[in-house]
Amino acid sequence: MEQTLLILKPDATMRRGVGAAVFEQILSSLPDVKLKGFLEIAVPKQVAEKHYAIHEGKFFYSWLLEFIQVGNVLATVLEGQDIVSRLREVLGATFVEKASPDSLRGKYGIVGGVNVAHASDEPANAKKEVSLWQEEANLDLFQDGLEPINAYITKWAETPVVATEQIRQICQEYAGEYTNRETYQNEIFELLIDECPDWCEQDLNRLANAILGNMDLDRDKD
Ligand code: ADP
Ligand code: MG
Repeated sequence: MEQTLLILKPDATMRRGVGAAVFEQILSSLPDVKLKGFLEIAVPKQVAEKHYAIHEGKFFYSWLLEFIQVGNVLATVLEGQDIVSRLREVLGATFVEKASPDSLRGKYGIVGGVNVAHASDEPANAKKEVSLWQEEANLDLFQDGLEPINAYITKWAETPVVATEQIRQICQEYAGEYTNRETYQNEIFELLIDECPDWCEQDLNRLANAILGNMDLDRDKD
């Protein structure tokens, strides 16, 4: 049966209510799916590099490596018929602005490539990614994933998810001038506090910095 790798990126893992909502929506959209393994982990550098090796040399590669290591990620494997493409559909288009408003990225993505989650893009890559995470990050596919995911939902579902639109707005304002970066970063930091209840100031600052960092990529491209 086809498998695919799902990684909730640090924006969705740190914003605990987003993580809970994402898992809820996946379970309700893909009710037949089997979940294998569940892992919260700070991605080791060599796993990040191998996972994203396909993007090495692209202008967003170093930002991407930094972003995926800003805070923990949540990893699980989904198994089911056509699961690779069905999960991509639920996730939505790569860029938040292009993702349909009822997709996970459209609903919870912050800006550009700060986009909630990774999901394998085709079955052959899914196989490689599942092996990588199994072998090098100790994702245990013999563990049932559903039970810990339901426990995660129960634990975090009440965490507020209120700042998405405001952070998007701040990013637009920042992109309108590309100055006063520190002020914008502080504003984002403040908005993240309630959404990320178990993270320290330094972690939130790293996330806020990575959010603006994605905007900087657009500026630096021109
Ligand atoms: P997907 O995650 O939808 O499979 P890709 O594999 O093309 O997308 O890219 C991997 C990740 O790199 C994206 O999810 C996004 O976080 C980031 N990314 C890709 N392209 C860009 C870009 N042009 N600007 C900023 N970030 C990008
Ligand atoms: Mg991809």
